[in-house]
Amino acid sequence: MPNPESPPRCTPTLKAALVTAWQTRFLRNILLALVFAASIMPLYTKFVSHPQYVNLLVKMTEDDAARVASHLSQAFYEEGVAVTVTEIGPHIQEILQDFRLVKVKLFSADGMVIYSTDPADEGKLNEHAYFREQVARGQVYSKIVHKKTQTAEQLFSAADVVETYHPIMHAGRFLGAFELYYDVTERLHTMDHLVEAALIQMIALVVLLTMGILFFLLRAAQTIAERNWLQRSLQASEERFRSIADSAQDGIIEIGYKGEILLWNPAAERIFGFNAQEALGTDLHRLIAPLRFAMRFDEHFAHFQRTGTGDLIGRTFEMIGLDKAGQEFPVEISLAAIEDDEGYRAIGIVRDIRQRKEAEQRLKLGSRVIQHASEGIIVTDARGNISMSNPAFTQLTGYTEAEVLGANPRLLQSGRHNQEFYASLWAAVMDSGYWQGEIWNRRKNGEIFPEWMSLSAIRGSDGQVTNYVAMFSDISKLKEAADDLERMAFYDPLTALPNRMLFKERLERSLKEAKRADIKHTGLLYLDLDKFKQVNDTYGHTTGDALLQEAAKRLTGSVREVDTVARLGGDEFAIVLQEIPDVATATRIAEKIITAIHQPFEIAGHRCEVGASIGIAIAPDDATTIAELIELADAAMYQAKKDGRNRFKLCSVETRGRP
Ligand code: GH3
Ligand code: MG
Repeated sequence: MPNPESPPRCTPTLKAALVTAWQTRFLRNILLALVFAASIMPLYTKFVSHPQYVNLLVKMTEDDAARVASHLSQAFYEEGVAVTVTEIGPHIQEILQDFRLVKVKLFSADGMVIYSTDPADEGKLNEHAYFREQVARGQVYSKIVHKKTQTAEQLFSAADVVETYHPIMHAGRFLGAFELYYDVTERLHTMDHLVEAALIQMIALVVLLTMGILFFLLRAAQTIAERNWLQRSLQASEERFRSIADSAQDGIIEIGYKGEILLWNPAAERIFGFNAQEALGTDLHRLIAPLRFAMRFDEHFAHFQRTGTGDLIGRTFEMIGLDKAGQEFPVEISLAAIEDDEGYRAIGIVRDIRQRKEAEQRLKLGSRVIQHASEGIIVTDARGNISMSNPAFTQLTGYTEAEVLGANPRLLQSGRHNQEFYASLWAAVMDSGYWQGEIWNRRKNGEIFPEWMSLSAIRGSDGQVTNYVAMFSDISKLKEAADDLERMAFYDPLTALPNRMLFKERLERSLKEAKRADIKHTGLLYLDLDKFKQVNDTYGHTTGDALLQEAAKRLTGSVREVDTVARLGGDEFAIVLQEIPDVATATRIAEKIITAIHQPFEIAGHRCEVGASIGIAIAPDDATTIAELIELADAAMYQAKKDGRNRFKLCSVETRGRP
């Protein structure tokens, strides 16, 4: 297929032109006529015209001969009787010269030569049929004898000669005949020359005509070839356009000079719901634009009709379209103008951008959500380099988006987690696409803080990871609150000592550890202050509280760090002595505590004195469960009170008896 951009400017070859000419009936007929004329003309000249000229020459010569013969017969005959030849001899010689006669013969009625300017001829008899049948019957008989051909007398002529037999008649009687030999060499030569010239002129004319016609044929063939080519490329271009229009995903619509729809492709049908039959010929604006825009469109179109230009021509813009169901929706339109002799038309490419708009809306919303989220968010590419972060992230870490773009989130690592932690985190992301948990990160200012992080892998339609999204929230406050909660759950708020729950846990742990170590003992001291109520009663509850706090300090100061001092409630404390070698160690500590508590307390200018009664139980000697142990120690403490306070009591058979 020829390239439509480059029409064949070069002249087609002669062969191509002739082929084209031959294939075109009109040109073929001209060509045939030309060949026929060119070949027939010389033949016609040779075989028709030339003999006619010769006949004319003979005829003219016959006329001359008639006149000469009539003249001669007056000289030769008087009243139908021949005169003596010798008398007219000189006269004939004159006539020979005047009339270009080569020879004159006189035949008698029976065909005998009775006179000839060539005496050798005299006495010869003419026995030819034409003499008897034509000449003897009063008809003129002529023939031309060309140079070097035989004459009637079987002689070879030295010139082109016309022989004319002219009968001599008298009163209807045939007396004889003259035979006149005219030399027509010169005339014939002149005539031949004329015919030749005419022939040459004719051939020249035919050649010229041929050239002219060939030129015309070439031009015609070129024009036809060009036209054929144009037609083909136009057809190809039209087919191409049609297939593009048919298969296009976008609507392709052509609008005529008056705004009517000329082209409505299948995509336009899909987008607007009108089929081609319904759309073609109707006014575009009335069909697919909401009524409220009609006036503005009319203005635009009127301007376009006049000028072929407009704000929207050559541009891509968005507007509201209307489908057959009356539904309005956003479309994107690209408009181009087409100009021809009759005016301006427009071609529009229309795209349904509903989905795109929705996606844009979603994106905008997503972006707004990210921007305003209280959680820090970073998005990385597939290689893990940060491609986006939000303001909450900046607030959280101190890094602006510009500072982290392209960086690896590794810069946030706190150093608190080992390689295995990160390896298992990534394994979870690769495995299930998701990980969430607590992670410690480092702010720009170096401070490390706990975060609750969720990390997700985003995969494309091909299943390949395209991005990772990490969302974190600072949980340091949460952790503090949790710590507070823990404190509240496990610690006594007044003294900050472990409470009963934590005490039990510690005791339990201690017992287990002691069991594992086998040889070790655990000592449990149950302690109740003596006469504490009096402090409350005398100095008030606040002083009582302060005393409890001070007493707690003294208790803690009297034991090792591994030991646990707990406040069980009121003025009741418990002390877990870990891994003690023997009972004596427990009693020694009990004494130390009693001494410490017995020291007067100076509180808000008041001197307060209390004591401590302590019950002691040892595991595994006295019991192996905490319940038993507590019960034993409590009973022993009760016994110590009973025995007079400010003392300790080891559990024993007698102390067990406490109800
Ligand atoms: P005893 O020698 O028999 O132990 O008698 P006591 O005066 O120490 O009184 P008891 O142990 O029977 O009772 C403890 C008292 O402690 C009861 C209560 O009024 C007081 N108390 C309990 N909890 C608190 C507290 O948190 N602060 C203050 N200030 N007093 C408390
Ligand atoms: Mg007490």
